[in-house]
Amino acid sequence: MELDDHAEELASDLGVDKEEVKSDLQNLVEYSVPIDEAKGSLRRKYGDGSSASSGAPQSKAVADVVPEDSNVTVTAVVLSAGKRSIRYQGDDHVIVEGKLADETGVIDYTAWEEFGLEPGDTITAGNAGVREWDGEPELNLGESTSLSFEEESLDLPEAYADLIGGDTQLADLQTGDRAVTVEVDVLECERRTIDGRDGETEILSGVFGDESGRLPFTNWDPVPTIEEGGPVRIENAYVQEFRGVPEVNVSEFSTVTPIDREIAVGADTTTLSVREAIRTGGIYDVEVVGNVIAVRDGSGLIQRCPECYRVIQKGQCRTHGDVDGVDDLRVKAILDDGTAALTVVLDDDLTEDVYGGTLEDALEQAREAMDQEVVADTIRERIVGREYRVRGHLSVDEYGANLDAESFAESDDDPEERARAFLEDAGWTDAGDAEVPEEVDA
Ligand SMILES: [Zn+2]
Repeated sequence: MELDDHAEELASDLGVDKEEVKSDLQNLVEYSVPIDEAKGSLRRKYGDGSSASSGAPQSKAVADVVPEDSNVTVTAVVLSAGKRSIRYQGDDHVIVEGKLADETGVIDYTAWEEFGLEPGDTITAGNAGVREWDGEPELNLGESTSLSFEEESLDLPEAYADLIGGDTQLADLQTGDRAVTVEVDVLECERRTIDGRDGETEILSGVFGDESGRLPFTNWDPVPTIEEGGPVRIENAYVQEFRGVPEVNVSEFSTVTPIDREIAVGADTTTLSVREAIRTGGIYDVEVVGNVIAVRDGSGLIQRCPECYRVIQKGQCRTHGDVDGVDDLRVKAILDDGTAALTVVLDDDLTEDVYGGTLEDALEQAREAMDQEVVADTIRERIVGREYRVRGHLSVDEYGANLDAESFAESDDDPEERARAFLEDAGWTDAGDAEVPEEVDA
């Protein structure tokens, strides 16, 4: 059934205006509420007889709210309140999202009305709707919610009280987080023109860094202090997934303030075991330490298609056929730390470092030997069997785990010490079966 038919059916059952029901229905569906649940909630809203038996909403502790509750009353402290603009039926609507907490737990909420919620406020939300999001209950504060501000503020456990205001670190951000506050340096930033929902618009995109690591960002309404390079404090940002990693979104509702402190980017980054890194499913900024156990085919002196820049074999591009290849250097090395293995990809600059020469040197060496494989062999001799500390962007897909290295340096750790730490951390027992990723050409 189309949305229109659902609206028709509801309107006739409830004896209310179809357009009104349809608009409500569309709203809920755009928020990923399943259609049956959406219809159920509208039946309650418009006073279907079936809701009479459910009675007045129960007062509940946050930890006791379950997705099966239809409506509840909770008293809680506002931890965060972030505005966001959404669009439905051609109109922009401003909603407020964030987290609430009482002594027992924390819950996400969405406010559809302007209640004036501020972090630190203690509120009682009477008749708040409950919906399920990702298996967890979430509160909907809408026009049927009676919201009051309590004069006496609720005492929160320290762990929750620390969350008031939404201050966090980049490494802790997850897709779906709202109303977050971060203090970051702007590591990369470019102005781009995109085809937005209101036609062509200028945005900033780049990379933020803090002590915990780095994350890409989009600034939808270019802020000069971000473009000038920070450091800045950003309040009320939200996090969305973009190309497999969380991305910080700075909107017109975010507050950006220059700050006067040095940010030692990456100073607190923790090194992950290869197994843990792969388990994240892809991570923008990660450091691993392991042994190079092999240099894969397609390393050393290679040729790329001048059109698509893919690596070509014998002058043949899979897409563009017979082409005049462009010489380049790269390394694809298998790095193993005893917990698992991944492929580290070194670009031309890092390859020059490990090769100990330039592209010209490599071409010269290949000419003399009348074999370009000698370049890969030289690199193999230099790095296989040694331990490296690698930092970069990890992607994980059906072809395996590839770490695009930004830095690749010989490690000065005591390998036994580290191995022991990993074993203890992971409860790891069968360290011998690390899988070698499959061969694939990027
Ligand atoms: Zn090509």
